[in-house]
Amino acid sequence: MALEVEHVCGKQAQFDKTKAPTTGWTTGTGNVYPKQPCWLRIPHELGDAKLLSFKAVWIDINLYDANGKLFASAIHLGKKNQAIVSANRISFLTSNATFPLYARLDVSPSTSYFDQVEVESLDLNESMHRAQTFDSISVAQTAILVGFAVIAAAFGLLLRNLTYVLFALFCIFRAAFLIFNNGLIFSLWDIPDWLPQLFILTSWPSNAIQSLIVTRMSGSAEHSPKLHYAMLAMAALYISLIPIDIYFPYQSLGLQDYLDMVWYPVALIGVGRAVFLKRAGSAILFLGLIPMAIFWWPLAVAQLLPRSFGLSFETPSGTTLDIIQNLFFPTLFCISLAYRSLQLHREAIRIARIDKLTGLPNRERLTHRGDSLLKSKGNPPIAVAALNIDRFRAINEALGYDTGDAALIEVGRRLAAIPMAIVGRSQSDQFFTIWLDASKLDELQLQIQQLFFAPILVNQQMIDISMSVGVANLPELDMSLQMRCAEIALNVARHEKTAWEIYKPEMETAKLGDLHLLSELRTAINKNQLRLFLQPKVRLKDGAVVSAEALVRWEHPERGMVPPYQFIPFAEHTGHISAITVWMLTQAMQIVAERRAAGNPLQISVNLSAFDLRNNHIVTILETLRETYGASSSDIRLEVTESSVMSHPEISLQVLHAIHEAGYSIAIDDFGTGYSSLAYLQKMPVTELKIDRAFVSGVQANTDAAILLFSTIELGQRLNLSIVAEGVETADEWALLEGFGCDYIQGWFAAKAMPVSDFINWRKEQSPFHFKEYQVS
Ligand code: C2E
Ligand code: CA
Ligand code: CA
Repeated sequence: MALEVEHVCGKQAQFDKTKAPTTGWTTGTGNVYPKQPCWLRIPHELGDAKLLSFKAVWIDINLYDANGKLFASAIHLGKKNQAIVSANRISFLTSNATFPLYARLDVSPSTSYFDQVEVESLDLNESMHRAQTFDSISVAQTAILVGFAVIAAAFGLLLRNLTYVLFALFCIFRAAFLIFNNGLIFSLWDIPDWLPQLFILTSWPSNAIQSLIVTRMSGSAEHSPKLHYAMLAMAALYISLIPIDIYFPYQSLGLQDYLDMVWYPVALIGVGRAVFLKRAGSAILFLGLIPMAIFWWPLAVAQLLPRSFGLSFETPSGTTLDIIQNLFFPTLFCISLAYRSLQLHREAIRIARIDKLTGLPNRERLTHRGDSLLKSKGNPPIAVAALNIDRFRAINEALGYDTGDAALIEVGRRLAAIPMAIVGRSQSDQFFTIWLDASKLDELQLQIQQLFFAPILVNQQMIDISMSVGVANLPELDMSLQMRCAEIALNVARHEKTAWEIYKPEMETAKLGDLHLLSELRTAINKNQLRLFLQPKVRLKDGAVVSAEALVRWEHPERGMVPPYQFIPFAEHTGHISAITVWMLTQAMQIVAERRAAGNPLQISVNLSAFDLRNNHIVTILETLRETYGASSSDIRLEVTESSVMSHPEISLQVLHAIHEAGYSIAIDDFGTGYSSLAYLQKMPVTELKIDRAFVSGVQANTDAAILLFSTIELGQRLNLSIVAEGVETADEWALLEGFGCDYIQGWFAAKAMPVSDFINWRKEQSPFHFKEYQVS
């Protein structure tokens, strides 16, 4: 119950700190604003078991009895003398006092302005109850704010985003403010005098940080430069209140009121403009600021108006509005963080599963789709077709790569229009369709034939298209096996020029004679048809070319250079790959030994397949070759993909460790397309991370794709890995990656893979490779 008390405040109260004045008393409601020292007089006894209670924390109280004798005191809330200090409240037992009582109130240097003092009479239970409710609300809010701070800090550090880090700091300061402001720590412990001062350090910096967050999130520098500088200036002013408060203890509060009064309108206008311009994140900021403005702005105004205006506000700490203004903005912010990371995650999946050129699903995605179709019951059995454009190489060479690309897009578009089929592109001119009803394969054949009756028109050129198709109708197999079988059938169709073949197990064997790619591959090594090409890796910091990737080529007597995707998958499935690996390693060892002897060392990366990781032979082979050619193990790096490791994780990890212990380094190839499991990555003895082309090509600044790329680089570097970006084709991509601090770049922008002798010449002429010389001005 509020008490009728008389008071004297200001100059008259100031003369003697220990003796109440005799004149100048005003009768009031029991609320005073102790911006200046005050004397209160409580004329009447409170009755049995009644507490004289002051709702105010930031105040020193000395209580004198009717004889002017010091009766009780609570100073800085630390030293307690007959005072019961609970959070936000100081109470005195008055049963044996002689009334009237005189209370001397002195402002602690750090009095928070909304803490007007309320004088009440309470009984003990009520007092405890109020204190506890208030405490639990404050503690809960503090805990929530700390939680938000941890989340924001984690995101901020991971994504190197300063706004998030600022936000984490903001939450921490707000949490500290809450816990100081409710006085809980002061009632729990005896607190040294300087600690109340610290209170200020929690309130004003948080205001300054709030200004910085607002300017950053609203992008005010771009659209409202004047408001922007005003916000920054106010941030500086908030900070300057700290020294002001130290040297002129009673001045800072009024100044803060002025600042608050200006800050909220300025911030809301700035953010409002950003909302109007549809800037990402600004709506959240605006919504979050509104309850804060409703809470603080009228308070500031009320404090600045002369008392005679009669405008006053109840101390609103702990009210619903207080809780909302404390938690609403942080909650919105964290929701937006969660949403943002979800978006990035989706973008990663999308990029990894979509073919850039045609926008169709890629091989990974198709495998997924197919597997889930195979698993779900009630569907008719599915079949898989692999399709290849006949004479595509000729189209490319005759009409140029632009036209070739446009033709691929158009072919993809037409294929995608087939009803009952899911279409994707696996590489170059090879497509796949999942045919949703295997019993109607004839229909698929007809549809595909009809699709290209009419020539396609690209870049003003009419091009006749025909396709060879291999079909697997083996619903009992999983998707990747079906795709492989379809590819085998496709190869038969191409060689026999039959246009349409359905897979039969005989196709696997060498029965197809000399025409069969697989049997040809067996002899390719003996006939010396394989070639090792080198593609340079450029070190970004100085343009040096000290390493290269070895890529295999097959110089076929009739078909010319066969690119690896036309035989590597075959070779991998049949185990022929190990012969290729050994051949490549042999060449690579020779080259690196030679280069080192020539005083021009070069590190060569050789690709290993899943098959090579299945047993320890590979280490023996590496060591034998190294000794034979006198090569250095540090000159050979081995590239493995996560998927190849994951196909037999246990043995593969063993093999990788053995390779590593023998002194060879290991790179993770095609990072981002496979499992991308960081937990696993940390178990592997890896030195280098090669970010897959899909994440690099076509990436533009300030897009989600760019953020993804940047955070992948960051993350990799944090794990102490050297980062290689693959597939860099343009100056823009190069510049972006350089800005992101990527370590190495491999891609056509520097050079395509080339024969070893060409590579050596290229390196002589082009190393160090400097990007700027290539920029078109
Ligand atoms: P990979 O290991 O990811 O090799 C990089 C591929 O990207 C190479 O294709 C390379 O020519 C290509 N590339 C490099 N820069 C660019 C660029 O700027 N733009 C574009 N669009 N492509 C670029 P390639 O030589 O056709 O090799 C394809 C895949 O075949 C390799 O992918 C690798 O998985 C496999 N492969 C190649 N040689 C070997 C080998 O000796 N052993 C094994 N096991 N696999 C090999
Ligand atoms: Ca590779
Ligand atoms: Ca790669």
